[in-house]
Amino acid sequence: MGTGEERYLHRSVRLPPGHGRARASFGFRHEQGTGDGRRAIWKIIWGCPAPPKVRVFAWRVVTNSLATWANKASRHLELTGFCPLCGVEREDGFHALCRCPLARELWRVMALDWNIPKVEAIVNTGPELIFSLLDPLDETARLVVLMTMWRVWHVRNEITHDKAPPTAEASRRFLHGYINSLMCIKQHPDGNLEKGKMVVLPSPPRAPESTAPKVRAHWVPPQPGWVKLNTDGSYIAATGAAGGGMILRDDRGEIIYSACRELRTCDNALEAELEACREGLELALHRSNLPILVELDSAEAVSMITAREMDRSSHRALIKEIRRLAESDAREISFTLCSRLQNMISHELAAYGRSTPRTAVWLTAGMDFVINLALAEKPP
Ligand SMILES: [Zn+2]
Repeated sequence: MGTGEERYLHRSVRLPPGHGRARASFGFRHEQGTGDGRRAIWKIIWGCPAPPKVRVFAWRVVTNSLATWANKASRHLELTGFCPLCGVEREDGFHALCRCPLARELWRVMALDWNIPKVEAIVNTGPELIFSLLDPLDETARLVVLMTMWRVWHVRNEITHDKAPPTAEASRRFLHGYINSLMCIKQHPDGNLEKGKMVVLPSPPRAPESTAPKVRAHWVPPQPGWVKLNTDGSYIAATGAAGGGMILRDDRGEIIYSACRELRTCDNALEAELEACREGLELALHRSNLPILVELDSAEAVSMITAREMDRSSHRALIKEIRRLAESDAREISFTLCSRLQNMISHELAAYGRSTPRTAVWLTAGMDFVINLALAEKPP
């Protein structure tokens, strides 16, 4: 939010005749109430594992110091307080973060992954809305709610700055990786994991009564002298958007490379899986001389690649290419099935490549969420 917000606050704004031009400023208003209730609010906000910029954003909501159109109009910095996005009503913090169609859509897609309140059920309790919202929630839900509101405000600012806003789905993916990495840091501040402890995932409290056995699977490093490649594909049938994610690590869990890719010509999820595997393997062959264990979470893809007979499906060219790459090298290369939890980083990378859309390779590194997740998956 930072830069957009600042640019927003410091640009020249229209004033009624006679007022000339001025710079808008919405500083914090610490003086607004200092009772016990206030202290409880700050405790909830500052105790949340959200990044500082998100907590500052929450502070601004509580102190009613966001540069909403209603706030600007009350200072004669805008002629009207109506929402610049939908125009339906005054844009106060509640409208911008919970009522505007843009906000509602992001709340809706976030609720697909996390147990957060339904946006329709949120009541406008004024600037202290955040407190009444967060108070009854557990820590994970508090984090998700704050991150969602922060993201809504960011997207809203992109639009008011005439930038192309990210789709709700892109924001969902972005927040998913971000929140997971934040929770890893929170749980494992030293990155010092007990063996067998898995990376934090959003507990789906949506179905707490589920009797399904708890999946404890976690990424396992390859045996010494080997490297492990995890790849995954991401495909959205409705739009045809696809992406691939890959990460190569050694037996100490160190990243050799991580990569994401937008897949432009992809017809289905299996093709995205295979395409990510092909590209991941090609990169891995260049980045290490050690034998490679390739892990995918698609049973179909693994069985197609490892089948003895020639593939006759529409994917035969891709299968053939993967096999050719694997046989082009004297070292041992094998393919195996893993669980989705074991494939989480490449999964997130694939979604990132698809939704941004972006293609990139990072050597011995990766985006923040990749580094944090990899740190959490490192062997002790
Ligand atoms: Zn609106």
